Amino acid sequence: MKIKNNYQTSPCIICVALTGSVPRKKHNKNIPISINEQIESAHECFEEGATIAHCHVRNNDESISFSPDKFFKLKEGLRKFCHGMVIQFSTGGRYSLGKERGKMLSIKPDMASLSVGSNNFPNSVYSNPPELIDWLIEEMNKYKIKPEIEIFDLSHLFKAAELYKDNKITGSPYIQFVMGIKNAMPADKSVFNFYIKKIDKLFKEASWCAAGIGKYQYKINEWCIKKGGHTRTGMEDNIRLNKNMLAPSNASLVKLTANICKINKRPIANWKQTRQILGLPLKFN
Ligand SMILES: [Zn+2]
Repeated sequence: MKIKNNYQTSPCIICVALTGSVPRKKHNKNIPISINEQIESAHECFEEGATIAHCHVRNNDESISFSPDKFFKLKEGLRKFCHGMVIQFSTGGRYSLGKERGKMLSIKPDMASLSVGSNNFPNSVYSNPPELIDWLIEEMNKYKIKPEIEIFDLSHLFKAAELYKDNKITGSPYIQFVMGIKNAMPADKSVFNFYIKKIDKLFKEASWCAAGIGKYQYKINEWCIKKGGHTRTGMEDNIRLNKNMLAPSNASLVKLTANICKINKRPIANWKQTRQILGLPLKFN
């Protein structure tokens, strides 16, 4: 008889990465760019089961923005129309090397992404110097923001463990592996398994998820759901519903992920469960 894996009964968090910094309307006209489009898209995704909104903001010409005003408006709209949804701001910076990437943290989202090392992207270096990482963590601690630790390479996982050991990252860490970016970590199953095993060794307790980029999104969703992790979808990472069709919306991608949960009998975490898993308060502003 097959031993039942506890993970099968534990709720799975679905995060939706709504917009990102790269895709434009010319790539898929359905990608939400304006704050209103983002709020509407997040609301549809929330109804389909996504309980974390990973957020970037854009200028009117679709270029990336770090404007605290825009982040403020986005947070306000998400609180109003997606009550309970966890709001996660990106401090990722393909286009900025400095503290500009964290100046919206004073708006106090529930979470923020935190890259803890550098690596290559398809056409550039993704630079995260140690002093910037330290500053971002200090800001997140100051405003009681939970980091989502981004792992783009093996050394990043060990850096995260060091930050955890030094008490710079407090509470139970939430770790995300990003797989399938050209010139960075491949979407390789044995590497994935190795990372998950390593988490158990390096952290007393931690939750984890993974994001698959482009055509790897669905596959990585499956790996996470089957292995008891949490998961991420959305048009930041992948603009296609399948090989032949562009995604009509972020919600259509969330539906796909929710369906993988259903097939594998993983319940989908509602917003209260999500906040409990992440150690976030059930009352917030
Ligand atoms: Zn992002």
